[in-house]
Order: sequence, then structure tokens, then C-alpha cells
Amino acid sequence: MKTRYIDLKNEINEEKIEEASKDIINGKLVIFPTETVYGIGANALNEEACKNIFKAKGRAVDNPLIVHINDLNMLNYIVEEPNEVEEKLINTFFPGPFTIILKAKNVIPKTVTAGLKTVGIRMPSNKIANKLIEYAKVPIAAPSANISGRPSGTNISDIKKEFDGKVSTILDSGMVDIGLESTVVQVIKDKVRILRPGKITKENIESLGIEVEIDKNILGKYDGKEKVLSPGMKYRHYAPNTKCMMVYSKDEEKMIFEINKIACKQKTLIICRDRNYNKYNIQYKIKMGNTLEEIAHNIFSILRKVDKYNVDLVIIEGMETTGLGLALNNRLLRACEYNCIDLDRMQIYS
Ligand code: AMP
Ligand code: MG
Repeated sequence: MKTRYIDLKNEINEEKIEEASKDIINGKLVIFPTETVYGIGANALNEEACKNIFKAKGRAVDNPLIVHINDLNMLNYIVEEPNEVEEKLINTFFPGPFTIILKAKNVIPKTVTAGLKTVGIRMPSNKIANKLIEYAKVPIAAPSANISGRPSGTNISDIKKEFDGKVSTILDSGMVDIGLESTVVQVIKDKVRILRPGKITKENIESLGIEVEIDKNILGKYDGKEKVLSPGMKYRHYAPNTKCMMVYSKDEEKMIFEINKIACKQKTLIICRDRNYNKYNIQYKIKMGNTLEEIAHNIFSILRKVDKYNVDLVIIEGMETTGLGLALNNRLLRACEYNCIDLDRMQIYS
């Protein structure tokens, strides 16, 4: 299949988005930008089309897809009526980097829900994503645009390597804004359970006066025994082929000292904050930004580069687990396959 590329980097051309929407209507796959990461989308009501998403990604069939809508009228058609807490979350965080798990109606194919009674719903704020859904006039099922297990696609040059010839159209709007996937939540007995952390934080939800729990798999390791609420948590994720390790201390000088100590023993690449770059006296280093927002924005494209360095070890500077730091820790723990040192708690996972 020849993939059509549509360049929307400099202007959002609605006619071209409308053209791409025809592919969705015709049961084909379209890669499109959202404010979080790029998605690989199909008509969420078309089971065969959605099966092709799993094939293109090599995604496990028990890992459900998130369904994207552009207006709340679509919601009534695909899910049972939300309760009061769910409605409050929807009214506050839609549109945006926020996915809520709701009870699915029968129009949603089993392929999308992976056989669960629920479905994840998100209303993106990205204008191109919105227009694509608006023109297609159907909800669009879309997971992140990456081969399963790899870092999520945040720019087209990374995505092209994995999906050229496998999808019908790619809408290119350059680098995405946030860089980490949406926050996924489920309301259980009026409490919000965060199943995957993201840009909408625990603290943001708590400010609505709602109690929030963090699923223990977010910072923990799935042991293969208990039932997981969000099947995506079971899988190796975001990982380069090179062995990665995260090292953290609140005391930045202590963290830098420890990283230098480990790095001098083997051929190492360090991924560090811009302000610390000159404090590492080794050959291979990459700047990841200074703030949590900058790190979120850059981290997946950096993780995709590290294998090229041909080193024995990649060390990533860690961060706190509050605010956006929870989402970053969640992704980096998996990228490092739990090979992490927290110098303050002297907790060594691995
Ligand atoms: P992605 O492939 O990056 O878009 O990830 C989608 C995430 O949402 C995965 O971790 C899924 O397990 C999770 N998810 C989607 N639908 C549901 C659902 N019905 N219940 C629980 N988690 C879900
Ligand atoms: Mg994904």
C-alpha cells in the first residue's frame, strides 16, 4: 500500500483533512496528530477496520483501544449515561489529554473493548484531530502510533519508519505538543482511580473535591497474577533495545555524583537536564530539557535515538513523582524495565 502524506505543518487545510476523513469512512487507517501523541485511527464502529490497527501495531488483542469523539452528542450513542462524578470529570477535562472509562453500548465492537464491558473515551483538543472526527462523522478508535512496546510516536520521521506502507494516510503537523499519552481514569464508587497518569494530574482532579487513588501498577511492577484494570499496564513498554537505568535524588548534586560514578565504569550515554549537561564528564550525553513539561515533550523521541549510540548503558536522570512527574516516572520505569535507583530511599528496583 502506498501511504499518502498530507503536510499540515504550516496551515490547517480543512479540505485535506476532509480527504483523509474519507479513508476513515472507507474503513482504512489514518495516522493523525493529537495534543498528546500521534494516533493510528480507524472508524471505531467498524470492527474489521479496527482489527487492522492491531495488525499494523502488532498489538496484543487483549489491550483495548481508546475511542476519540469531537462532541458530546456522540457520547450518548456509544456509552451508557455517565454518573455525577463522571459527568463532572467530562465537563472539566474534555476536550483535553484525558480519557475516561465508561460502560460501552453494543455499537462498540468487541475488538475495540478487547471484550471488556467498558470503553475508554477521549475528546482531543487538537484541531486536526477534531476536524478529522467531525468530517468522518464517526468516533475514531486510536492507540498511539508506534509498534507495540516501542516509545509512542511524537513526530512523523519516527512514525514513517514504522508505518510507511501500512496505513492509508498520514497527517503531519510536526512535533506534538505534550508528548505523553492521555491520563486514563475510571470512576469506582465515586472515587477516581488513575489507571495511567498523564498531563491531567492527580492534583488537578483532587482540586475538584474528588477523591483520587493511583493504581498500584503505575509505579509498581505487574507481577502477572492479579487482574489489571487497564490491560496496557501488563506489557513491556517504551523501551529502547539498549539497557536503560534511571537514577534519582532530590539532591541534584548527589544524583549527578552517583551517575558519574556509574558512567565511568562502562560505555554510557547520559540523558540529563540541560542545566546539568556540563557536569557530566563523559562523551555521550543528550539534553532532555529542564522542566517536567519539557522532559515530557522530548522524552519519547530521545528514547528512539539511544540505540544509535551503541553504548552498554543509558542512564536517565530521574524526577519527583508529583504532578507530571508521576506520568514521567510511570513511562521511564517501563523504559528502564524497573532498573531504577532512588538514592533518597535507597530503593533499588531491578
Ligand atoms: P494507547 O495504546 O497508548 O492508546 O493506550 C491505551 C490505554 O488505555 C491502554 O493502556 C489500555 O489498556 C487503556 N484502556 C483502553 N480502554 C480501556 C478500558 N476499557 N478499560 C481499561 N483500560 C483501558
Ligand atoms: Mg500506546
